[in-house]
Amino acid sequence: MTTDIYHLKLGLNSCYLIGGSKGKIMVDAGMPNKIRSFKRKLARLHIRSEDIKLIVLTHSHFDHAGSAKEIRDLTGAKIVIHEIERSYLEESGMIIPKGVNTYGKILKPLLFPFFSKLSFPRPKADILVNDKGLSLSEFGIEGRIVHTPGHTPGSLSVLLDSGEAFVGCMAHNNFPFRLNPGLPIFALDIEKVKESWKILIGRGARTIFPGHGNPFPVEVMKRALSL
Ligand SMILES: [Zn+2]
Ligand SMILES: [Zn+2]
Repeated sequence: MTTDIYHLKLGLNSCYLIGGSKGKIMVDAGMPNKIRSFKRKLARLHIRSEDIKLIVLTHSHFDHAGSAKEIRDLTGAKIVIHEIERSYLEESGMIIPKGVNTYGKILKPLLFPFFSKLSFPRPKADILVNDKGLSLSEFGIEGRIVHTPGHTPGSLSVLLDSGEAFVGCMAHNNFPFRLNPGLPIFALDIEKVKESWKILIGRGARTIFPGHGNPFPVEVMKRALSL
């Protein structure tokens, strides 16, 4: 199976569009105020906004959900999130992760007091996913949404049958987080992140598309986890 995959950087967030037989699904929706940049990128790729049918939010953090409402209003796509992060998307508040490594521990008190005050337009979730995940077949995609907790309790990944895994903040791969691909520097529970990696690897993840930075082979994560 060949799948069209487009990488869209919307601020610090790497979003992705995945082509299927019934249109495209989007993974994550960028930082706040990125709707103009999103429209420009779609035009450059000759993609019509109405072709996007689904927006999967890997989690409720502002850098992944910040432009979700405007992108939904533009495209008419349905928004999917894990049920335990619904109120953080629709209402207010932020799940504050811990610094995982030394750098994360230094960076966290510098960034998160500022992050937690940021506001962004709040969309309503159309589809709530629980721990069982969700098949994407009804959207014409051979793959599924997998619950991969750790960075936040409701973190989700999209895993295609062909091995591409869109993992949000299960991995970081660019400044200011990391300079090379690897585990996230922020996570509520890093041990759960590692367990979630084992699930994705066990289900056949081969190429990793992180929420921050460029794709990389799964072998990087296998080394990081000593598998
Ligand atoms: Zn996050
Ligand atoms: Zn993030």
